[in-house]
Amino acid sequence: APEQIGQPFVGLLDQDQLLDRVGSTDPDEAFAKLVAEARSGAEMPARDWRWVASNGSLQTVSMTLSAAEIAGTDQMGFLCVARDVTEQRASQELLVAALEKERTAVERLRAVDTAKNEFVSTVSHELRTPVTSIVGYTEMLMDGSIVEPDPDQVRLLETIARNAQRLIVLCNDLLTLSGLDSGNINWQAEAVDLTAGMSVVEDSVAPLISGRDLALTLDAPDTPVLVTGDRTQLERVMINLVSNAVKFTEDGGVIRVRLEVDGDEAVFSVTDTGIGIPIEEQGNLFQKFFRTSTAQRQAIQGTGLGLSIVASIVSAHGGQIKVRSAHLEGSTFTVRLPLRAT
Ligand code: ADP
Repeated sequence: APEQIGQPFVGLLDQDQLLDRVGSTDPDEAFAKLVAEARSGAEMPARDWRWVASNGSLQTVSMTLSAAEIAGTDQMGFLCVARDVTEQRASQELLVAALEKERTAVERLRAVDTAKNEFVSTVSHELRTPVTSIVGYTEMLMDGSIVEPDPDQVRLLETIARNAQRLIVLCNDLLTLSGLDSGNINWQAEAVDLTAGMSVVEDSVAPLISGRDLALTLDAPDTPVLVTGDRTQLERVMINLVSNAVKFTEDGGVIRVRLEVDGDEAVFSVTDTGIGIPIEEQGNLFQKFFRTSTAQRQAIQGTGLGLSIVASIVSAHGGQIKVRSAHLEGSTFTVRLPLRAT
């Protein structure tokens, strides 16, 4: 700008910043130091400086200053290159501030999540003991070990026992989940034969299908299918998926449970001809407490915790779970687990 011509260059710099950077109290002395640095021939890397504009406003510039002898004279020439980066720096600062805000928000959410986990786990633990005693005493009342109950009373006592059992299952599921979330679970990493797991599944679901009109088939290879992991947890995955198929399939339906080997993976799948899962709800299926609109409408009991436990166990074993389904058109849940390296 023309008005700068003939003005001392030092006037362009923000004095406070100059004094601060060079470590001096006198602007002329500070500037002299800066010039001496440029004259020393050392490469001066571009640095951000504040420049004072003619209207007094401050600009941030990325500036280099270098000196060159003018041949044949005893004069020096200086070349100053300054690029206005005011807006760029302002948006960088905004970005840094936004990232910082996000980081603290994430930290806060993590702390809240940990507190919630501890709360859920403590409450579930504390609830389980009194509910267990309710179940125990109800059974004593039912089996006549105190006094023979009237038939009418038996019906009521059975309802108490059934509901108290549901509470215990809920407490256990919540305890498992809070353990899974906090990563505080010590799991085995043993060789687990999923073929043997199929018989465990068959025995566990037998009481669920007795008295129901459901065709249940189980197909498994004749040979062991070995994966690495925790037997109890992996059997829990298999039993849970088959129990769901039984629960969400009306009488007259078909449930096919299959274990196969595909390349280096064990594939366990459960196909049913039940109520299905609306496609638009499938994204939430593995979230805690999620229950499909169909299950709620038909008042099929459940907590919506089973599948989130299943998904956590599968992922902790390096596997994957997928669902293929549509409203009222049955469902197929497929779990893939890496085979145990031989
Ligand atoms: P719960 O069975 O206790 O409700 P889950 O987490 O096991 O909890 O399942 C969550 C929801 O997913 C169920 O409430 C149901 O809406 C849906 N669901 C799970 N399995 C099936 C299935 N085989 N067929 C239809 N819906 C299913």
